[in-house]
Amino acid sequence: MNLFTHSKGHTANKAFLLRLLSGQRLPGALLFCGPEAVGKFTLAKEFGRIINCPEQQGYCGTCEICRLALDTHIIDQGDKIIQIGQIREIQQHVLTGPFTAGFYICIINEAHKMNEEAMNAFLKLLEEPPNHVLIILVTHKPNGLLPTILSRTLRVAFGELSSRDTREVLRNTAGFDQPTAERYLSLCPHSMACLPIFKSKQLSLLYQDGQFPFFQRFWENPRDIPFLTKLMDISQGQSLSPFLRLFLLFFSHRMHQGENSREAALCVQILVDYISVYDTINVNAMVFLQSLLLRLKEVKYANTG
Ligand SMILES: [Zn+2]
Repeated sequence: MNLFTHSKGHTANKAFLLRLLSGQRLPGALLFCGPEAVGKFTLAKEFGRIINCPEQQGYCGTCEICRLALDTHIIDQGDKIIQIGQIREIQQHVLTGPFTAGFYICIINEAHKMNEEAMNAFLKLLEEPPNHVLIILVTHKPNGLLPTILSRTLRVAFGELSSRDTREVLRNTAGFDQPTAERYLSLCPHSMACLPIFKSKQLSLLYQDGQFPFFQRFWENPRDIPFLTKLMDISQGQSLSPFLRLFLLFFSHRMHQGENSREAALCVQILVDYISVYDTINVNAMVFLQSLLLRLKEVKYANTG
């Protein structure tokens, strides 16, 4: 029986969690880690509902606990750094809750975005885990967390989605029509990480008919200064993640096409490094992009001077 009616895939993880629950062996803290945008956070929220709803099998979605998400505290703020004040707020709740018969559930999405102060405060919470509290840390960057935090959580490792599951999420949750869903799958078959590219008009111009026209033009002439301005224009103060991902895909496509593949491979490596930095620390977008473009130009002109 599938008690997780919303989350796609991850069958083994779901079974594991339900075994913990039915055996009353829930630890104080779980770590949901694995690739970006494969449904870790959705699954965490759904698991919270299953734990607290009085419904014996799964959750009803209509009782007060389900509707108001009672005794559930969620931190989910995308790219922003998680501050100590937000952890202190959890500490307050932990002292007073839960108000219902269940658990006080706290889910921190993108947990690696805690700054050092926040992590240290959080560690205190883990060192003296109160009863009836379940913390779920969700991250695709577990190494961005303190080792002392990692050692106090039970790790649940996630894999990618099957393309069938990705298609289902695209059609049913994201509301994509068939042709758009297929176009998406040809770019990113195993996760929802490229969703912002298809949702934003600006970003969607960067990937058309299986081509990357914008990056193509840049790579033909990387010394073209307006590129950076255009790029800042496109990102418009939003997260650079989807953009960097497309840039990476552009070079991986070149690499697989075999044209100048050594050069493309170097660029792929640079992009991978930069994405990993972007994911773990707070950066100034302009400075970050300038530095990235500089590295790419070095590759392009390495032999020609
Ligand atoms: Zn319910």
